[in-house]
Amino acid sequence: MSGGVAAKTLREEGYAGRIVLIGHEPTPPFGRPPLSKTYLRGEEELSGWLVKPESWYEENHVERVNATATRVDIRSQLVELDRGKSIAYEKLLITTGGENRRLEVLGADLPGVFRLRTVADCDAIKQAARPGARSVVVGMGFIGSEVTASLTQMGLHVSAVLPGAAPLESVLGQEMGEVMAGIHRDAGVELVTGDEVVRFEGAGRVERAVTRNGRELDCDLAVVAIGIRPTVGMLQGKEMAMDNGILVDAMCRTSVAGIFAAGDVANHMHPLFGRIRVEHYNNAEKHGAAAARSMLGSQAAYGYVHTFWSDQYEHKLEYVGHVREWDRFIVRGSVRDRKLIGFYLAQDVLRAAVGLNRGGDPELDLDDEMATAGRLIAKQSRPDERALVDEDRDLRDL
Ligand SMILES: Cc1cc2nc3c(=O)[nH]c(=O)nc-3n(C[C@H](O)[C@H](O)[C@H](O)COP(=O)(O)OP(=O)(O)OC[C@H]3O[C@@H](n4cnc5c(N)ncnc54)[C@H](O)[C@@H]3O)c2cc1C
Repeated sequence: MSGGVAAKTLREEGYAGRIVLIGHEPTPPFGRPPLSKTYLRGEEELSGWLVKPESWYEENHVERVNATATRVDIRSQLVELDRGKSIAYEKLLITTGGENRRLEVLGADLPGVFRLRTVADCDAIKQAARPGARSVVVGMGFIGSEVTASLTQMGLHVSAVLPGAAPLESVLGQEMGEVMAGIHRDAGVELVTGDEVVRFEGAGRVERAVTRNGRELDCDLAVVAIGIRPTVGMLQGKEMAMDNGILVDAMCRTSVAGIFAAGDVANHMHPLFGRIRVEHYNNAEKHGAAAARSMLGSQAAYGYVHTFWSDQYEHKLEYVGHVREWDRFIVRGSVRDRKLIGFYLAQDVLRAAVGLNRGGDPELDLDDEMATAGRLIAKQSRPDERALVDEDRDLRDL
């Protein structure tokens, strides 16, 4: 996503030189969100999620090389490929994203135990997911929660195993975690909380997941969704500064002159939120574009007030800002009706907001509540708490 958007932006900004896009997935750059939702459920093809149609790359002289980059030779300015070739660069943008964390337990390699990142991963799950089948989902972050919802909608029974008390609790907090838990339980999902899978068993194919607390969860398939780690394997040695991904400044520059990084792999310095690595679509897109402009000499800092969304069943979750620790969570709207906007404040400053079924799109509708919250976050506002909860007060007046 980030790499494709960067190539597109380079051309849009008038760069006429050579662009080579290296990637080991066969498809042109695309957005992954439907892989846990509409595409998984067979409701949508991926054509609408391409950064640009396949023909655009040829028409715009962007060379797509379907290969794996195995090493970056910083001194000689070469990217070495698995096929023995290497490609010289003047400027290099690294957008290698992330790879799924493996669950290091017995039986994790049994057929029927899946992970989800690529189209091929998704197609394999799709093929195994027969209505009426029993499934286990390990991990209830965004991907685990969305897969749980989709499998349930496809007529499977899902047992979801998670270490915490509620889905998404570590990102959204206890109150929102409980709301999300209620949504899954109402849909018939069994949430196995405070527990973890210690092994998978089965004769030639997964038949059950065994948990630390001794639960034996019979299953026809399992999906492990326990997060990603940044893909940095091709950067051997200590020549580039790294810490939870590739360290970049606000202009997407790594510690090595002429090399930039963006998207899931890049741990960036944000003017508002400090150093953060973001694993969401909107960032992948906007960071890729920002990196392209930096490569062309722009000095502008990447200060996007981060946003993301998640669709689970008929529910739409939206989030703006970024916060890890907060001291107040204030709700406007109704928890019972699952229609609310929640505000995260740290030392009275509004840092983030979460919307559930509040409608609107922060990207499109500037008068939308979430977009207004985004502007308040950007200004580091200290809004009055009574005004925040009061549905009769327009957020734009705060
Ligand atoms: C199933 C799923 C659903 C998601 N849903 C949402 C959502 O609803 N909302 C949201 O905000 N975000 C969502 N995301 C997250 C979003 O897709 C990611 O943040 C985004 O894909 C990151 O883009 P990227 O370009 O940084 O990395 P990627 O999309 O991972 O792209 C990196 C590319 O680099 C390639 N690559 C890696 N190493 C090499 C190498 N050495 N040589 C050659 N190629 C290499 C990879 O194969 C890949 O094609 C979802 C992610 C997944 C997996």
